[in-house]
Amino acid sequence: MDAERLKAAVVASVGAHRDTILSVLDELHRNPETGLREFASSALLSGILERGGFALERGVGGMETAFCARWGSGGPAIAVLAEMDALPGLGHACGHNVIAAAAVGAALSLRSCLPAELVRIAVLGTPAEELGIGKVDLIRAGLFDGIDFAMMVHPSSRRQVIKESLGLAKVRFRFLGKAAHAGAYPEDGINALDAVIQTFNGINALRQQLRQDVRVHGIITEGGVAPNIIPERAACYFYVRAAEMAELERVRERVIACARGAALATGCTLELEEEGRIIAPFRVNRTFSALYAGQLRYLGLEESTTPSGSKGSSDIGNVSQLVPTIHPHVPIGDGVRIHTEAFARAAISETGRCAALEGATAMALTAVDLALCAELRNGIRVEFQKKFT
Ligand SMILES: [Zn+2]
Ligand SMILES: [Zn+2]
Repeated sequence: MDAERLKAAVVASVGAHRDTILSVLDELHRNPETGLREFASSALLSGILERGGFALERGVGGMETAFCARWGSGGPAIAVLAEMDALPGLGHACGHNVIAAAAVGAALSLRSCLPAELVRIAVLGTPAEELGIGKVDLIRAGLFDGIDFAMMVHPSSRRQVIKESLGLAKVRFRFLGKAAHAGAYPEDGINALDAVIQTFNGINALRQQLRQDVRVHGIITEGGVAPNIIPERAACYFYVRAAEMAELERVRERVIACARGAALATGCTLELEEEGRIIAPFRVNRTFSALYAGQLRYLGLEESTTPSGSKGSSDIGNVSQLVPTIHPHVPIGDGVRIHTEAFARAAISETGRCAALEGATAMALTAVDLALCAELRNGIRVEFQKKFT
């Protein structure tokens, strides 16, 4: 197989599918749907892929809006991930319409250009990223079993191939005490709000000993009903983030210990409620990332010279712990920040459209190299295995 000829064909094919790619970007943006309610978005994406020759499985992983579209009969199994959820009130302020458009574009161009026996493409419609649900549940349901490589792009203010993200665990604490008249019979009360405040104080003392890459932040969700009643119930909700899974686990335990200590000190009972899905930190694969960066050079595109060090959390982290994964950022507007109205506008702008086409092309070119070169595949796998030792 002539790699250069195939690559030129892939670039041309993304151009030929331009209207379809941009219609996905426009249509999702016009009708933004929040996590697990992406009914029209999921139907649009899966319908296009089905008509494009992909075999569709809908409602996978116990989620009505998740889907898996497969094509190809041999070679490496490559998952191309299509997020599609929007934010309540803000629409596509995280630009997942750009992600979905790029995924569909990459898939259609690969289907048009590559012989089926060289590659197996699985486009996974991954709902509810903003809720930290979609990919976690697809992993649990076995949708990533047998997948060799995973890729997606995310819109951003910058073109950046490697973008790390933090692991995230969510914990809710509810303290139960005893109500009493705060003025008349304070000695009868057990103050649940004190336990919440002690929890915050304990965690704030812990901060001094936390690593740079750890974040702990929380809110009070219930704090009493009136100043003259000692609060019988009070509750708080914390996020714990860290760049490594082991550190996330360690800090989560310490945060829980702060709440247990506060319960003991105040005489309250503690109810602990943990969100069942823990978001894993992103595991960078430099070899795989370099392969994508090479496609940018091929396309005459340069990475941003001022990479962003800011880190959020995303369920792509869980995928990256399981298979070699890339999550490059494509530029949709200078200086725009995610989860803002400006970002939502950028996700439909001319730059946003270019970003979707760039993502589609660069991912498809990356897949061509993976399909053609066993040495590249091995290099990525060797690096991935090393991280486990
Ligand atoms: Zn987001
Ligand atoms: Zn996002």
